[in-house]
Amino acid sequence: MPVEEALERLLALAEAAPISETEEVELADAEGRVLAQDLFASVDLPPWPNSAMDGYALRLADWHGEPLPVSQRIFAGHAPAPLQPGTCARIFTGAPLPEGADCVEMQENAEVLDDGRVRFVEALAPHQNVRPQGQETRAGEQVMNAGTLLGPIELGLAATLGHGHLRVRRRVRVAVLSTGDELVEPGLPLGPGQIYNSNRRLLVSWLQRMGCEVIDAGILADDLALTRQCLANLGDVDLILSTGGVSVGEADYLGMALREAGELALWKLAIKPGKPLTFGHFRGVPVIGLPGNPASTLVTFALLTRPYLLRRLGVQQVAPLRFDVPAGFDWPKPGNRREYLRARIEGGQVRIYSNQSSGVLRSAAWAEGLVEVREGTTVSPGDSVTFIPFSELLG
Ligand code: AMP
Ligand code: MG
Repeated sequence: MPVEEALERLLALAEAAPISETEEVELADAEGRVLAQDLFASVDLPPWPNSAMDGYALRLADWHGEPLPVSQRIFAGHAPAPLQPGTCARIFTGAPLPEGADCVEMQENAEVLDDGRVRFVEALAPHQNVRPQGQETRAGEQVMNAGTLLGPIELGLAATLGHGHLRVRRRVRVAVLSTGDELVEPGLPLGPGQIYNSNRRLLVSWLQRMGCEVIDAGILADDLALTRQCLANLGDVDLILSTGGVSVGEADYLGMALREAGELALWKLAIKPGKPLTFGHFRGVPVIGLPGNPASTLVTFALLTRPYLLRRLGVQQVAPLRFDVPAGFDWPKPGNRREYLRARIEGGQVRIYSNQSSGVLRSAAWAEGLVEVREGTTVSPGDSVTFIPFSELLG
């Protein structure tokens, strides 16, 4: 199954199972959440014309080159009186322009005479250094759409509009399962044949960063009865996300237990790393089974699971930003799966980690993102390749 098709199917499944409940949260608690309302401006921004500089406000039509007396001082946060004809006003950045003024000269171009009058040295133009009312937004204008992922910039904009609370989608509850008899939690001693469980930490941290509520179901032994029991105890979640046990090997107890309780599809994806991926339902709860090799887990989470989760929250823009960079490597053998190479940009070209094995997570820690090499293509140094930065996928 081509990557595009898998993504399309997952997004369709996500749209069929939206997390539609919402809650009202304080702006301070809205980081990483998904906006559930369209946001409108209740006032013009800025609400009144104001000064972009520290300087002097005047009315250009009334000025003929002579020095002007200063009739008032206007600080940011204070309401001015109308400008007295034949005068200027001392004004500071962000302060409202007095009625009648239409121009601000910066203080660097103004000379204060001994008698207190101000002489303007340069030619003046109408509206210079004035930020007009409503230049950013007009009252009633829609400024953000429902489905926007809220980061620091969006929260800053919501604050500009005066919103102290926002209505957001509730958090997605994701149960994370790591399958495999060989797995041991870091910090504990390793027995014969055992390895440390890396996928759990990778996924739990990533999901938390995405604003999900994570139910960490721990390590699931390769045992059918224990697997059944673990699934039955998961409680109320929106997604069961497992790793490992999805290759068609013999120890596919999760697959067996899921097939007993519902349906399960095994997709053979044209993606490398990460060929096998399962999707199914357990008692109505969607299940995504990611491959167990850490780099495969990473790639299939980043490119398929992350967009699926965001779409369930109503986010439309789920495709990460990607851009073309010149290759600083050779990839001479065309593959029949789409490859996502762990890569970083150095000196204006992209380099790949020396070992691209799906078991090597260090490749991804070294890397800054993924280079996409399409099926049936090769890469020579200098060719343009597509790069997807991790910063996009982790945001
Ligand atoms: P499986 O799909 O269960 O056959 O796993 C494929 C490979 O990924 C095997 O080498 C597993 O030991 C490894 N693996 C599976 N789960 C994890 C995990 N949580 N952390 C690290 N490696 C894993
Ligand atoms: Mg296994």
